[in-house]
Amino acid sequence: MNLCIENIGQLVTVAAQGKRVKIGTEMRELHIHTNASLLIENGIITGIGGMELKAPDGMDVIDAEGKVVLPGFVDSHTHLVFAGSRENEFALRAEGKSYQQIAETGGGILSTMQATRDATKRDLYKSGERRLNEMLRNGTTTVEIKSGYGLSPEAEMKILEVISDLKRDHFVTIVATFLGAHAFPPEYAENKQSYVERICDYMLPYVAEKKLAMFVDVFCEKGYFDLKMTEQIILEAKRLGVIPKLHADQLSAMGATELGAKHHAISVDHLEQTNEQGIAALKNSDTIATVLPGCSLFLNHSYAPARALIDAGIPLAVATDFNPGSQMCSSMQMMLTLACTQMRMTPEEAITAATLNGAAALGMSGSVGSIEIGKQADVVLYDAVDFRTIPYHYGINHARKIVKNGVLLDF
Ligand SMILES: [Zn+2]
Repeated sequence: MNLCIENIGQLVTVAAQGKRVKIGTEMRELHIHTNASLLIENGIITGIGGMELKAPDGMDVIDAEGKVVLPGFVDSHTHLVFAGSRENEFALRAEGKSYQQIAETGGGILSTMQATRDATKRDLYKSGERRLNEMLRNGTTTVEIKSGYGLSPEAEMKILEVISDLKRDHFVTIVATFLGAHAFPPEYAENKQSYVERICDYMLPYVAEKKLAMFVDVFCEKGYFDLKMTEQIILEAKRLGVIPKLHADQLSAMGATELGAKHHAISVDHLEQTNEQGIAALKNSDTIATVLPGCSLFLNHSYAPARALIDAGIPLAVATDFNPGSQMCSSMQMMLTLACTQMRMTPEEAITAATLNGAAALGMSGSVGSIEIGKQADVVLYDAVDFRTIPYHYGINHARKIVKNGVLLDF
């Protein structure tokens, strides 16, 4: 299908101009075209210009009515394939119970693990599909999805197969990450190291052989996977050609960011507790800092030092961390608001972090994350005449038309 979008008030391209990722003041450069038109042929962007750029005869035309067009959001950190629901814990937290107290009484990640182990592939597929539809309606066109609620070889592979089926069927571009090292399953509570061996000797080789995930992730944190265990998993993954990412510095700064930088993790994510040593390590690396402000809001925790990270010249991405325990909001529009209000990012920086830099955190910024000739046509039309309205007028969905791979979606 060929398509021309005409009469665009602000075409926010976030043009990378050949760069993999934007850093420092580049994050404020959105390369906006006003009164613009966009040509899309066979799913690829083939023309960007002013009103003189007209649709060839026979091409479908969308009149943008002077409104804003942005690249589709790239949500580079989610846990959206899971079963069950944890509103009971949400209510308990509102009554003053801590996350730890709830976990000790059988709640937390292990309750989602049990529900996910008990669920059929079809149930997981259906709920995953619903969540992806919701994200797409809110302007997200590329999503990373982690396993990590199975915590046994069978259940982890079941989740990765569901992700693979969704990737095959769904409009959204999906990237899979193996997060077997999310928590220790009850079977290994007394012998945590043997779960790490199980991941390295059996699960990772299987994932690599069947190509079930592009990335491996580890929850590197006190009481979870320590630095030594994390390094063991990273090294085995790299040997098998699976690229590492890390959950780092969420609850404590114990060196996870430094470890990720040392091993060229494509991204280190969370960073709420990152200190000067972590920032210094990232400064001398090619690793992207991914911040997850929804998680800080939902748990009422501190926010990652996004301002310091950007000012230090470290490439920064924003993602949702959508998951049933600590972050039940899948809207990247809401993440823009939190980035601006809670982390002192400008709207321009937040949009770059949610598009091009998110794509870079998935190794995909050559094909998605910006509106440039030759890139995949993932573009979203918003009911706004100024792009800053999207983070400013928060809590509602401004997206009106979603064009994915050059196809105007109707769903
Ligand atoms: Zn996460």
